[in-house]
Amino acid sequence: MDHAAATLAIRWRLRQRLLPHGELWRRLGEYTGGGSCGGCGERITSAQASYDVDFTPGVTPQSIRFHRACFEIWQCECQSALSSDQRVQVSV
Ligand SMILES: [Zn+2]
Repeated sequence: MDHAAATLAIRWRLRQRLLPHGELWRRLGEYTGGGSCGGCGERITSAQASYDVDFTPGVTPQSIRFHRACFEIWQCECQSALSSDQRVQVSV
């Protein structure tokens, strides 16, 4: 998976509210393949490390599987989204 393509896919899902902005509750590492990544949308193979992520109760979706790389991109994007919101508030 291309890192830049995964970043764009995750940004799009954040904008469409298909992914929460944070609200991480717990994270379980897994090495079993199967299913598709909630970040980039690609299949997770058994050779790829993935995370099972649960969000705080009340958040939709309740849980998502990510490639490990996509999980890290997601966390990064959440943080940059928050800091750009703060910049907007400061400048207004
Ligand atoms: Zn992925």
